[in-house]
Amino acid sequence: MLKLQKVDVAYGGIRAVRHLDLEVFPGELVSLIGANGAGKSTTLRAICGLVPLAGGSIEYQGVSLAGKPSYTLVRQGLVMVPEGRGIFPQLTIEENLLMGAYSRSDAAAVAKETQAVYAMFPRLAERRRQTAGTLSGGEQQMLAMGRAILSKPELLLLDEPTMGLAPIMVEKIFEVIRGIAAQGVTILLIEQNAKLALELSQRGYVMESGEVILQGPSIQLLHDPKVRAAYLGE
Ligand code: ATP
Repeated sequence: MLKLQKVDVAYGGIRAVRHLDLEVFPGELVSLIGANGAGKSTTLRAICGLVPLAGGSIEYQGVSLAGKPSYTLVRQGLVMVPEGRGIFPQLTIEENLLMGAYSRSDAAAVAKETQAVYAMFPRLAERRRQTAGTLSGGEQQMLAMGRAILSKPELLLLDEPTMGLAPIMVEKIFEVIRGIAAQGVTILLIEQNAKLALELSQRGYVMESGEVILQGPSIQLLHDPKVRAAYLGE
């Protein structure tokens, strides 16, 4: 579904991503883990066309993404929930959710799915007329994910969805990710919380200094001595 081959990204003279090969197959939940500054967010930005490639190629559903403007990707089912969530703080929760569906014309289905999102996140339902800027960090993350669901993603890119959240909220967000995956949505999950990400995903990639240093079934990575020492605090 998604194929990165020898992807290079540079900011000025600094190579943030080098020769990155990464593949996500339909229906998979794949995690990309690594320390701060490893190049995870840059990889997601490259997939969405938000930073130019200095080399390599990216294919989505068998077609190159080169030259495709970012705003056209949502319509093709490629949806990102960015780090920091990217919600609109002055708009209400309901308005934020509807922004996710702006490119859709099937109003009846959107209304039905909005109700399903509210059922998934009762906190958002209670606060639907409140401005989104007044939500807690965890609630904003739920809103960002609800909005992404309303974009009808086929491939969902999640950039550190649990960053800065309390443990109980982290668990809730992981539960939601599991639920979205169970509906058949393919997911690429970027996380610093390596243990939870590897427990949730089927396969994983480990990045260090812009490169993939390890990859494989998540269960194998969870037992890898290097991963255990560097990312699982053991
Ligand atoms: P984090 O978990 O801290 O977000 P990350 O793995 O997502 O880390 P990136 O944000 O992709 O890492 O950063 C990779 C490297 O690129 C870092 O050295 C960072 O300083 C650099 N970098 C990121 N964005 C920019 C930018 N806009 N301009 C210059 N350098 C950047």
